[in-house]
Amino acid sequence: MAKVVCVLYDDPVTGYPPKYARDDCPQPAIYPDGQTLPTPKGIDFKPGELLGCVSGELGLRKYLESNGHKLVVTSSKDGAGSVLDRELPDADIVISQPFWPAYMTAERIAKAKNLKMIVTAGIGSDHTDLQAAMERNVTVAEVTYCNSHAVAEHVMMSILALVRNYLPSNDWVKRGGWNIADCVSRSYDLEAMNVGTVAAGRIGLRVLRLLHPFGTKLHYMDRYRLPEAVEKELNLTHHTSLESLAKVCDVVTLNCPLHPETENMINEKSLKWFKRGAYLVNTARGKLCDRDAIVRALESGQLAGYAGDVWFPQPAPNDHPWRTMPHHGMTPHISGTSLSAQARYAAGTREILECFFENRPIRDEYLIVQGGKLAGVGAHSYSKGNATGGSAEAAQFKREKIKA
Ligand code: NDP
Repeated sequence: MAKVVCVLYDDPVTGYPPKYARDDCPQPAIYPDGQTLPTPKGIDFKPGELLGCVSGELGLRKYLESNGHKLVVTSSKDGAGSVLDRELPDADIVISQPFWPAYMTAERIAKAKNLKMIVTAGIGSDHTDLQAAMERNVTVAEVTYCNSHAVAEHVMMSILALVRNYLPSNDWVKRGGWNIADCVSRSYDLEAMNVGTVAAGRIGLRVLRLLHPFGTKLHYMDRYRLPEAVEKELNLTHHTSLESLAKVCDVVTLNCPLHPETENMINEKSLKWFKRGAYLVNTARGKLCDRDAIVRALESGQLAGYAGDVWFPQPAPNDHPWRTMPHHGMTPHISGTSLSAQARYAAGTREILECFFENRPIRDEYLIVQGGKLAGVGAHSYSKGNATGGSAEAAQFKREKIKA
């Protein structure tokens, strides 16, 4: 029997939904590179249900309990006396989503003497100290591709919202106004702009493909070049440094994983490379950016706008300056947890668990760490080390401060 601790975000303040806005939840048949969607032996949920919150339980309870395992589900993950800390000492598996991450620091990994696997129900395992996982021989797995396109859609929405000044214009209407000049004095066309992505992996390449029909000039910066045919098809300019990309782009979007090599890549110095009035969209990880340098760049006008959905830590403290800085289009971390994406990563988590319990290999594309080293997709996209420093600040968030 194994003990599985699953850390999930809170239910809606209005309670677990009795019904949904739509009756179905269309899914792609296959991912563009030929990777199949998750293939568990079964699922115990209906795609389109809210699975990522505590009552949704990622649809795992029936499967785990009918196989004799114990499932503990909680949203309590930070600060002294959290349920996660209480349950860790005899936990075999910890599951969480990047939206509401269980920060698996070296201290927590050391405390969890039975720990064998940490699963990211989603993509991005930077909330786990990968170095500590390697040293303790704990497997780390995530559900590669499950929400890459969902995030790319959020990137497109954020770019358009910033460039066209959508959110402030919507506010004028809600306040009873008809203030066209106020709205359009910061509104431009995306067409003809230079747009660049830092990283052209699954999300970055999808963003480039979605941008292509807008008549934008497209740029990317990645350690590896895309195939020549793709560069030609999308008329891409490859850059070997952030400096060269930032200097020519009107819009920059960050789509690389957070690891020691990429942490803080957008800082006081690198922001000076950007064109005055550039827009920055970050749906990758909050820690790619120096928090206060972003605020100063928006206040000075060096950046015309900043949007995305990733913060550090998560949840962001109630007084996090990105909540109130000018010209932002931030949301809580939601881009990869649409109901559509939840169905895929809940099924992917089930597939990983089935493989683990049945001693079958976990797909290479889901592996980040195995056998004491970076493995599978992790060996390609991550570097050794730890990016969880400072995560304890997440305990400062207080849900009860906010009214429904
Ligand atoms: P992929 O692994 O497909 O792509 C990551 C890309 O980043 C790879 O092409 C990799 O290049 C590149 N990369 C890594 N390090 C660097 C670097 N130092 N400089 C430039 N490029 C680099 O992952 P996805 O596209 O699916 O996801 C990317 C990230 O987005 C995730 O790691 C996660 O942090 C975030 N994400 C956010 C979500 C959200 O809900 N907001 C949901 C899903 C993901 P290489 O070829 O060299 O490995």
